[in-house]
Amino acid sequence: MTNAELQTLAQLLSGLGVMLTVTDAEGHLLVSGPPAQHRGDALPHTVSMNLADGRRLVLIPDAETELRNAEARQRFRVLAEHSSDLIVAVDADLAIRFASQAATTMLDIVPQELHGRTLAELLAPEDRAGFIARHFMHATRRGPPGADLFRALRRDGSALWIEARVVLLPPGNGLGDYLVTLRDAEQRKQAELALGAANAELSALASTDALTGLANRRMFDATLRKEWFRALRDGAPLALLMIDIDHFKPLNDRYDHQTGDSYLIAVAQLIAHNVRRAGDMAARYGGEEFAVVLPGTAANGALDTAEVIRRAVQAARFDAIVKDGAPLTVSIGVAATVPIAGAGAATLVHSADAALYQAKRNGRNRVEILS
Ligand code: GH3
Ligand code: MG
Ligand code: MG
Repeated sequence: MTNAELQTLAQLLSGLGVMLTVTDAEGHLLVSGPPAQHRGDALPHTVSMNLADGRRLVLIPDAETELRNAEARQRFRVLAEHSSDLIVAVDADLAIRFASQAATTMLDIVPQELHGRTLAELLAPEDRAGFIARHFMHATRRGPPGADLFRALRRDGSALWIEARVVLLPPGNGLGDYLVTLRDAEQRKQAELALGAANAELSALASTDALTGLANRRMFDATLRKEWFRALRDGAPLALLMIDIDHFKPLNDRYDHQTGDSYLIAVAQLIAHNVRRAGDMAARYGGEEFAVVLPGTAANGALDTAEVIRRAVQAARFDAIVKDGAPLTVSIGVAATVPIAGAGAATLVHSADAALYQAKRNGRNRVEILS
């Protein structure tokens, strides 16, 4: 740019409240806009730049511009110092250029200590790569930035759940390439975790029989149906045991309902103890009846399992429930099939029920399967 052109620019800038001066390498004045008005006490914030040919440009705001700038700086400082959010400006390489006062309360680190360190150092190692990929890598950065939860590291190395937002700053803003707002989300995360645990507990309760701790009828129905379709798809066998306590009513009448309940718990434990393969499921079908779903099991295997359960109940002593524990037996109906399209899981239940009825009719304390 020629000095004449710079002189025109200086005129324009004076209209914006900024004085432009240009000097040569020896400091001789080449161009000077109308002088900016200053108060005597404060030095203005000047901006200068050396051109390749040795000329030096200096921009000096006038008093009014300087005041506006000072006010803006002051407002920024107040916001940054009093916000409970930690505001961090980082370069493209994540070097921290600015950190607000909240770093002290949030991370126990004073802002000055953060200058020059990288944002990555503040992230817990397990969250680091994901967080950086989501917010700072062009290829993986999502569109409009949403809040993101991650763990930050406090001075003592402990982790703190943080909710963060990252925005790309316009170029030449003087602060950095990204502005990261960090908010303490520890309480929110803890509440989420507690809610998750409560939900897990609720769904466990909804699928568990309260008395025996086995799966309840609802869970049984859902599991049987699921296993039926899985076996149908895989062409695999599926077996079902229906187990009914023999002469349970007289036992209830002889003692009391609580004693009866204790027997039910004891029998449930014996069944569960003998049904241990992954995928097997023991359920309380209702009253003093139990059901066992055995995926991938054909008739022989199911008959063996049923026989093991029958013997375990027969051999059990129930001294802990009543003095000289009155013995107990069960009858078991077995059904096993490789599901075919068109039939449903109910056919397996009917078949096992019919076999159970047969076991009762043939004298109880027996395992039967329909031939
Ligand atoms: P069977 O050998 O023919 O099965 O004879 P049973 O007496 O076991 O058969 P029935 O179905 O007539 O009686 C079942 C009894 O189980 C009825 C009830 O007194 C008892 N029962 C059902 N549910 C419970 C329960 O939750 N707790 C207790 N204590 N008893 C129950
Ligand atoms: Mg019954
Ligand atoms: Mg019975």
